[in-house]
Amino acid sequence: MEEQDRSSQPRLPHVLIFPLPIQGHINSMIKLAELLAIAGFKLTFLNSHHNHERLVKFNNIAAHFERYPGFEFKTITDGLPLDHPRSGSWFLDMFEDTMEPKMKQSLREVLVNSSPPVDCIIADGLLGFALDVAKEVGIPIIFFCTSSPCSFWVYYSIPDIIQVGELPINGTEDMDRLITTVPGMETYLRCRDLPTFCRKLDIEDSIYMKLVVEQTRKSLQTDALILNTAEELDGPILSQIRTKCPRVYAVGPLHAQLNTRLNAKHGESRDHISNTLWEVDKSCIFWLNKQPNRSVIYVSFGSIMSMSREQLVELWYGLLNSKTKFLLVVRPNSVIGKDGEGEDVVMELMEKSKDRGYIVNWAPQEAVLNHPAIGGFFTHNGWNSTLESVVPGVPMICWPQFADQHVNSRVVSEVWKIGLDMKDVCDSKIVEKMVNDVMVDRKEEFAKSASEMAKVTNQSVNVGGSSYSNLDCLVEDIRIMSL
Ligand code: UDP
Repeated sequence: MEEQDRSSQPRLPHVLIFPLPIQGHINSMIKLAELLAIAGFKLTFLNSHHNHERLVKFNNIAAHFERYPGFEFKTITDGLPLDHPRSGSWFLDMFEDTMEPKMKQSLREVLVNSSPPVDCIIADGLLGFALDVAKEVGIPIIFFCTSSPCSFWVYYSIPDIIQVGELPINGTEDMDRLITTVPGMETYLRCRDLPTFCRKLDIEDSIYMKLVVEQTRKSLQTDALILNTAEELDGPILSQIRTKCPRVYAVGPLHAQLNTRLNAKHGESRDHISNTLWEVDKSCIFWLNKQPNRSVIYVSFGSIMSMSREQLVELWYGLLNSKTKFLLVVRPNSVIGKDGEGEDVVMELMEKSKDRGYIVNWAPQEAVLNHPAIGGFFTHNGWNSTLESVVPGVPMICWPQFADQHVNSRVVSEVWKIGLDMKDVCDSKIVEKMVNDVMVDRKEEFAKSASEMAKVTNQSVNVGGSSYSNLDCLVEDIRIMSL
């Protein structure tokens, strides 16, 4: 009898979510997965063996997702041995030849063998091969671009920029020249704000350029595109993207939207949930608890970026000479020096920093940025970090290195006006000046603009807000696709 009742129920839509095996991508896609689980879908989160092991080891992930009976983690190979260090430029070096063929085959097998069958795939926008597999097995696919809409639009436009002769760049004196061929960005996008591969004279031969342009253009051939932003943050660029892909869902910032929906559904906030691939050092929160409000600058450069020993020393002296206390994250193996010198210098600086700062290997970033003691964020402008700073209204100092970070830092400083862009320099005097500007001399100006931006962004994820309504539309459209 019970079986009969169950079988007479309509089957829940089954969505498979497939992120690129990198921290920033997993972070936002797992949040989208949870939001769709809250909406009542059956979810399969397809992760690499390597990352899933770490997610389980460093987070209470299984216990958290038990509350969603239809939620399942499945794992596949990323093509590399489990003990591969996955550091430096591992991803770019290995993606096309080693990772892509193995992941493509595994995805095909998961989809063919899935029971109940998958109704809709949501794949990372950089996993273009998922479109070929989806077509082969006849399942609708939506791409999720985890980087910023501005960078998506710049990547899309690169062939046009080259065609009109605005690229390549003619040497360093040319770096401040405006690029006029990216619709919507004509007044602020300079050569130096383009992704770093655009700085090469032989840009047309750049493997990375070809990869991102191809993946971006492929993303627009799918049934729809999801972006981790709000209409209020990126409206003009979203309008441009919609001229190429009419079904664009701006549902972010996802971590804030998840907070709203978890509160409504389970009466709790996300404070205790993390999706980290490194062991978090929570001791920094106890240190922050002892600091006055808005007195500390948080300094962290994400999960991939590395720096030279010399850059770390410049940065550290700038911080030390400023009038502000700092919380600095130095990921293991992220400082490059000869014969282990990188690691030695971190130990030395830690020792000397004691009364001015606190250094950890990996921080609970969202909790840190929401802590009242934090008054600024010195960041590389990865898209997750940028959004995590916008939501609590923390002004930024931007030190971008690659990928979408150069355009993000331009938007933060020039369009949103909630920070300063230190792009292309790392000099202790400039670090000191920028920290003093954001934390002391121009503190109120930046605090005001950042808090106004935070207000509209937070409204977008509340009931009736743009991102909240866009997520409802996405859910409804997936239901229709699954009929
Ligand atoms: N992160 C963290 N602790 C740290 C540094 C980073 O939890 O000490 C998280 C951060 O909250 C963000 C992610 O790692 O969600 C980094 O993603 P982002 O897109 O900012 O940069 P990427 O790592 O992709 O360069």
